[in-house]
Amino acid sequence: MNEEETNRYLLRLETVIEALTLLSSLTIIFIAAFLILVGIATYILIAIALIILLIGTYFALKIEHDAGYYECQHCHQSHIPTLKTVVLAPHIGRSRWMKCPYCHKRSFMKKTLTKSILPAKRQD
Ligand SMILES: [Zn+2]
Repeated sequence: MNEEETNRYLLRLETVIEALTLLSSLTIIFIAAFLILVGIATYILIAIALIILLIGTYFALKIEHDAGYYECQHCHQSHIPTLKTVVLAPHIGRSRWMKCPYCHKRSFMKKTLTKSILPAKRQD
């Protein structure tokens, strides 16, 4: 597999992990909230659901961070931001509102499977 195919596969894997995480944790929360009497079991089930949600979402975000690049909508340079930046950036789907390290402008950076072929000129 080349880089593009590997990144496409990883992003598909991320979608599956996040879908299974949401489905399982929301199912557990639904059972805890509506199908059993309120008691210690309710709180234990909700805690388990939140742990599943945190772990699943962490690994999905880690895969999204590691696979591919983010492309600036102003200068079209691609880069890999830090995991913290990816986690904290507002997003629509996989596009994230981040500051470009090359042109220093903010935009909804799109996820790309391969690095842009533009020559890298950093303005630090
Ligand atoms: Zn830029």
